Amino acid sequence: MAEKRDYYEVLGVDKNATDDELKKAYRRLAKKYHPDANPDNKKEAEAKFKEVNEAYENLSDPQKRRMYDQFGHNGPQGFGGAGQNGYYSYSTSGFDGFDMGDLGDIFSSFFGSGFGTSGRTSKGRSGPTKGADLRYDIEISFEDAFLGVEKEISFNREETCSTCNGTGAKPGTKVQTCSMCGGTGQIKQVQTTILGQMQTTRTCTACHGEGKIITEHCETCKGKGKIKKPTKIKIKIPAGIDDNQTIILRGEGAAGTKGGPKGDLYITVHLKRHHLYTRKDDNVYCDIPITFTQATLGADLDIPMVDGSKLKFKIPEGTQTDTKFRIKGKGFKNVNRSYEGDFIFTVIVQTPKRLTKEQRELIEQLAKTMNEQPPVRKKGIFG
Ligand SMILES: [Zn+2]
Ligand SMILES: [Zn+2]
Repeated sequence: MAEKRDYYEVLGVDKNATDDELKKAYRRLAKKYHPDANPDNKKEAEAKFKEVNEAYENLSDPQKRRMYDQFGHNGPQGFGGAGQNGYYSYSTSGFDGFDMGDLGDIFSSFFGSGFGTSGRTSKGRSGPTKGADLRYDIEISFEDAFLGVEKEISFNREETCSTCNGTGAKPGTKVQTCSMCGGTGQIKQVQTTILGQMQTTRTCTACHGEGKIITEHCETCKGKGKIKKPTKIKIKIPAGIDDNQTIILRGEGAAGTKGGPKGDLYITVHLKRHHLYTRKDDNVYCDIPITFTQATLGADLDIPMVDGSKLKFKIPEGTQTDTKFRIKGKGFKNVNRSYEGDFIFTVIVQTPKRLTKEQRELIEQLAKTMNEQPPVRKKGIFG
């Protein structure tokens, strides 16, 4: 399947394009590719026309555009096949899947704790290498997960040294070809053994396989070409994110080597426990204490919702303790689909522990009338 083109690229506009610019670009392209305007090339024009329409549809809607900017084409979505960890992945530049080689790295880094690095290291002389992937764990409140939140995170990240542009050599000094290996980075040796002559190849120790020798190291990075720098980035955490879900920010990991691409940043979100609410899937659960008179007579309750608002809810007379009520669509937003979970509350009838004299008298009167009508017993096992 052909790679889906970036929406901004499709419309030929800048990522910061205003609504007006988007509209203009769309009008121009829609006219150009309209199938009726391309009778000789209908099929191709139609495909282009559809592409342009889709791009405009997504970028002209502010919410969709924000989602696209953050998550790319596939939107925040489940990470198929890895559900056992509750592991979901998101991407800023389009979720492009992982090859199996990557999976090992990702999972091994996830089982550690704190902020670690993963990624392939290069041995011997090699071309550009992708920078290490970084992981970051962030704890957010139940409410922030419910409403979505923007957070600034700070961490140290290896960046290309700006003094030497990543070469590791002091500016103005010469980089010499290694005389030991002649620039190949490898040394061939012929050994005579009882089995005959054997040729072995080893990494050149003089240049560590680089093929080049830096005469004077860059003072800023001590010749490494990279330097750890404190970094701050803002991340958008979408409403509805669940505990242990991971946001992937492509290209926000460590700098690559020799012009290789940057690694990625994996941010795993942890939800703080809430004193009132619990969550299962997209549903919110909570216990609501009510008095026994409310349970008996029925009542209008003010139910505290996760977003801080109150919702009036009428419970019927004769409500039993542990009865569950469901408020549809007031749970978490589903991060993958346009769907909301429910808010389910369980009423817990509180028996009064202390009564005033007057209350006691009233209840005693009530008790007398109740004793005249004892509760109907259900038939037990003895009939
Ligand atoms: Zn440097
Ligand atoms: Zn060498």
